[in-house]
Amino acid sequence: MSDTNTTPYTLTGTTGPWEIVVGLEVHAQVTSKAKLFSSSDTSFGAEPNTQVSFVDAAMPGMLPVINSECVHQAVRTGMALGAKINNWSRFDRKNYFYADLPQGYQISQFQYPIVGEGEITVDLESGGTKTIGIERLHLEQDAGKSLHDQHPTRTYVDLNRSGVALMEIVSKPDMRSPEEAGAYVRKLRTILQYVGSCDGNMEEGSMRADVNVSVRKAGAEFGTRCEIKNVNSVRFVMAAIEVEARRQIEVIEDGGTIHQETRTYDNVKNETRSLRSKEDAHDYRYFPDPDLLPLELDEAFLADAQASLPELPDAKKHRLIHDLGVSDYNASVLITEKANADYFEELLSVCVKTQNKPAAELARSASNWVLSDLFGALNAQGKAITESPISPLAGAELLSLVADGTLSGRLGKEVFALMLETGKSASALVEERGLKQVSDTGAIEAVIAKVIADNPEQLAGYKAGKDKLFSFFVGQVMKAMAGKGNPAVVNDILKRMLG
Ligand code: ADP
Ligand code: MG
Repeated sequence: MSDTNTTPYTLTGTTGPWEIVVGLEVHAQVTSKAKLFSSSDTSFGAEPNTQVSFVDAAMPGMLPVINSECVHQAVRTGMALGAKINNWSRFDRKNYFYADLPQGYQISQFQYPIVGEGEITVDLESGGTKTIGIERLHLEQDAGKSLHDQHPTRTYVDLNRSGVALMEIVSKPDMRSPEEAGAYVRKLRTILQYVGSCDGNMEEGSMRADVNVSVRKAGAEFGTRCEIKNVNSVRFVMAAIEVEARRQIEVIEDGGTIHQETRTYDNVKNETRSLRSKEDAHDYRYFPDPDLLPLELDEAFLADAQASLPELPDAKKHRLIHDLGVSDYNASVLITEKANADYFEELLSVCVKTQNKPAAELARSASNWVLSDLFGALNAQGKAITESPISPLAGAELLSLVADGTLSGRLGKEVFALMLETGKSASALVEERGLKQVSDTGAIEAVIAKVIADNPEQLAGYKAGKDKLFSFFVGQVMKAMAGKGNPAVVNDILKRMLG
């Protein structure tokens, strides 16, 4: 796939434009009931230290046992990233000392990760696309959590996360702007949600990114990078890149040099700060974990993983646009959150049944309704699609009442507002409030005759050539019919009776 984005993003310093180079290491918590090497629960928000087995607490003599579900999820994710799956991989010990790491090492994969090179294609605001390389994906354990804010002089440790399975997904240094990095994280999250291998919930820490940033002059070699640790929202990833790149440019233009180091992003001050320089970097002393056999995947395991994959976001978008006639924009918005796509597809399938028409004839207007009416209402109420007060079934009923002419477009919107207000179905509201659109020509003719008789001046004006007065008559007729006149029929008869 070729990149269609052609305008390079640059930051301007005193010496002219600079290019930003970004590579991301994303840690994604694997969706699994149990931890990577123990059977402890992984649910979020439990009381501290209530989900800790002897293995997670690193009691002497405890042995890790690999959770095959986590392996399955990592392989499925790799497949969804179009990546090379390594049938043979190995777990290594990454040794470091920290209060919330009772083992004194983290079990990770270093030289032989379970997933190799892949790629992600992202849509950019400019309308272009860009393909970003994936270097690798490996499995590793999460550490515990130090709680510094529970006591004035002490630090507490919560081991609930200790041993939880993470996928570390390492990109190539292919991104060139904050926007590309933001689009990459969002797309990766979408893919993980479709696969079901990570819930992508950044607020709960299910996904966080280490952001590597360097700057260079166009065409020059890569500069020295700094790594900003543990950034936990798309917005902060983008902001951190921007301020870090500006900082580096200033240092270089002042005659200084960038030293490779680990930094942290302060979102209140919108700045990055040094945590440790390369000289203080850990020597992790990696070696193969002697308690675990290498991981070997057989054909049946791989076939099963492949067969379990759902339709992925790119394929779904392509189908919505090319098979169903949904606009590019609507398709992009619908696929981004899997729950949105699920809602739309359920709504559409009900519409197909109730209106007895092919999906391709109904998809465009159904998608418009979801994006403008439904999303508008949900936004106003601050609700997610999964909390929608209007089910796909209820929405489809409303659309079919508009499609069969029972409701005009305008009445459809009115009924929709009433549905939100009362929780009642569209048909119940039409019945109860007599909201049916009137298409009966006899009834409409009678109203028009009265409107014409009541407005002789406007009639004279219209006959004298003031065409604009036509809409005055439409307005009067609609008003007399409490908005229930079928607009097309009203227009037709008015033309005939005025002319
Ligand atoms: P390490 O193993 O020391 O973390 P890697 O080579 O694995 O180093 O790179 C880590 C991340 O840094 C990757 O996402 C990679 O794309 C990114 N990266 C490497 N070089 C640069 C650079 N010069 N500028 C920005 N990012 C870089
Ligand atoms: Mg790294």
